[in-house]
Amino acid sequence: MKLLEGKNVIITGASRGIGRGIAIAFANQGANIAFTYSSSAGPAEELEKELKDKGIKANAYQSDAASFTACQDLVKTILEDFEQIDVLINNAGITKDNLLMRMSEDDFDKVIEVNLKSIFNMTKAVQRTMLKQRKGSIINMSSVVGIKGNAGQANYAASKAGIIGFSKSMALELGSRNIRTNVVAPGFIETEMTEKLDEKTIAGWRDAIPLKRGGTPEDIANACIFLASDMSAYITGQVLQVDGGMLT
Ligand code: NAP
Repeated sequence: MKLLEGKNVIITGASRGIGRGIAIAFANQGANIAFTYSSSAGPAEELEKELKDKGIKANAYQSDAASFTACQDLVKTILEDFEQIDVLINNAGITKDNLLMRMSEDDFDKVIEVNLKSIFNMTKAVQRTMLKQRKGSIINMSSVVGIKGNAGQANYAASKAGIIGFSKSMALELGSRNIRTNVVAPGFIETEMTEKLDEKTIAGWRDAIPLKRGGTPEDIANACIFLASDMSAYITGQVLQVDGGMLT
């Protein structure tokens, strides 16, 4: 049996990396996928085709998660295309790393807007639909950095910690309508976002992880499948670390 058969899922930022891994894994479990990207039109088109070839419904949408009105318009269009929304995965995220001394106001604001405000934007946009349906699962992508902090990532860590507070509040506000909100906090997952780091830093990180390897997008996708499926029907307001034991 497929765990997500017939569920309609929105994934933000799925043209590459973790979001792409989630889209493929969800399609393999029978979900229909509406996914967004910011500028990678080619890879998004390729992914849409790859997903459709699995026999599910899939559409790519170019949409800026940081824009409130763009998110309203996006969800309106997705509802016209898919009719119902069962799962929202807020995955889109960026980094603009620097020590505070060198971090510009714009680098701080941009990271907060794309990583944190986007979650407000998208949750507001799907709320009415999920309330009417009296069901829904929202999964927000944080990071172990949001729990622990990280030198050189004050903007990113603040955005990821903010996601946890927002999600726990949503679990309290929306629980009575059977809308669940959980957080996934990945550790070190090897994607384009981490390719920017030098090989020596990466080797050091791998060695410090109890499971002795970086994670894969599939590792994160598997946790999301659980939280999106009815297997987690009694779980809300939780932060699930998927980090190979990095932060224990
Ligand atoms: P990635 O490879 O850089 O991919 C980011 C995705 O987000 C891309 O699809 C990108 O679209 C999209 N995106 C960026 N800005 C956007 C915007 N304003 N509106 C809509 N989409 C936007 O990143 P990743 O490593 O897969 O990370 C995915 C999520 O996991 C992020 O929230 C990240 O913070 C979190 N995370 C990652 C790690 C890790 O080790 N990789 C660890 C902890 C948490 P385009 O391709 O069009 O630019």
